[in-house]
Amino acid sequence: MKPARKHRRALPAVVAVASLGCMTLAPLAYAQATTQTRATQSALTPDQILEVLKAGNERFVSGQMLERDLRSQIRETANGQYPMAAVLDCLDSRVPPELVFDMGIGDLFVGRVAGNYADTDMLGSLEFATKVAGAKVVLVLGHTDCGAVKGACDGVKLGNLTHTLSNLTPALYAAGGVTGPRTSKNHEFVDAVTRALEKVAAGETSLREVTRLFWSALGDTSVLAVDVNGEDSS
Ligand SMILES: [Zn+2]
Repeated sequence: MKPARKHRRALPAVVAVASLGCMTLAPLAYAQATTQTRATQSALTPDQILEVLKAGNERFVSGQMLERDLRSQIRETANGQYPMAAVLDCLDSRVPPELVFDMGIGDLFVGRVAGNYADTDMLGSLEFATKVAGAKVVLVLGHTDCGAVKGACDGVKLGNLTHTLSNLTPALYAAGGVTGPRTSKNHEFVDAVTRALEKVAAGETSLREVTRLFWSALGDTSVLAVDVNGEDSS
């Protein structure tokens, strides 16, 4: 294994998200470290929400995360929630969205499953988050060296995990342009499958019917975001 590979593995999602682009000032409708309300959720545009997420990730990467009064946020969200975005994320313990994007209670819906794929149950949850609860962005977050992806690459069979990994099969076939073996030993292939997974999730018809795509292919992995305005943007 090359030394650079070891570094990427230590911070799987940060490498990807941090390279999204230049920082911009947080949108006026968004006050940092404050609890989201119906008014702030309504005012923020999908583009602005992506800027908020990028800014949060910049803070996480730089170690300058905001101070939050989580006990107050618990009280403030007791009677309602107005998250700005939903994140479809892997089970992996190293990519907790609220930490990676420096968010608080009530900011994000989070759906997590090994391999960050979108089956019917996950799509139903994301449809609730966007169509019912008002989140304007769905961000599909893959990460490098994903254990679930590696298991799918190698055809691992283990209890219910066998079914879970079968959901990654379309991405195995979709991962192209890679030289070498199509196994977990080939990191280039593993990360290509992760990128394909993100595309497959964002291409789900039930979300595309009402969403616009944001797509960024970034270095070792990629971040894909979907908003709810109905126009493609990439
Ligand atoms: Zn993973």
